[in-house]
Amino acid sequence: MCRHLAYLGPAGAPADVVLRAPHSLAVQSYAPKDTRGGGTVNVDGFGVGWFADDGYPTRYRRACPVWTDPGLDRLLRPVRSTAFLAAVRSATAGMPVSESACAPFGDDDWLFSHNGVVFGWPESVVGLAEDVPTVDLLRLDAPTDSALLWAWLRNALREDVDPADVVRELVVRVAATAPGSRLNLLLVGRDVLVATAWSHSLWVRSDGPGVLVASEPCDEESQWRPVPDGGLLVAHRADDTTTTYEMEKIGQPEGDGRT
Ligand code: GLN
Repeated sequence: MCRHLAYLGPAGAPADVVLRAPHSLAVQSYAPKDTRGGGTVNVDGFGVGWFADDGYPTRYRRACPVWTDPGLDRLLRPVRSTAFLAAVRSATAGMPVSESACAPFGDDDWLFSHNGVVFGWPESVVGLAEDVPTVDLLRLDAPTDSALLWAWLRNALREDVDPADVVRELVVRVAATAPGSRLNLLLVGRDVLVATAWSHSLWVRSDGPGVLVASEPCDEESQWRPVPDGGLLVAHRADDTTTTYEMEKIGQPEGDGRT
């Protein structure tokens, strides 16, 4: 089961939580503590994305275990960003191991990650795919459940909509047509972060002016709070000193532990 994290707040260093923290994302890739029956390690690739100084996202993805990338530490060392997302992947059986299948997925405005699986893929989400413009389906990053979820979201986000409403709609809809799916989503924009906990763990830390969410707490010192299963978390960055978040329950997942 993939592990992922996202941050919104004053400029922070992705390297701190991706590489340096005691239970960093890199550690979670080979020694996750809470897999809930969903695989053992997350070695099928990784990705880090951040909103850069020009206001647009930069993404770096590779189809190898995160600890084997010789350039990542140097690449991330100088990076400071007000909004970032990172993920390590454990490919669902039958889905390809490739760079383009690794989160974050994204465009000029958003970064996205999916930890989980869509049951009955792909038949169970044919209706969802029918909502996605054909040209976007032809340009799908990879033939995976996560890439389709992203294509649907990106299309919905082209309208002037509340991103939390769009994420909520996606989870409720896929859970209805593909029951038992695990739909742990992270969506990060310039000033907003939306996350769901749907059949897996998600934690939130907000002990400073920023908000960090992660599949597993990255350290034991900070004030981590669990996001209840079936929960949706929305964070907004008002300015450099204020980022707030709210949580709501959007439903009751019925996951069975498979990825
Ligand atoms: N199903 C997704 C993929 O194969 C995510 C996998 C996971 O969370 N383990 O990329």
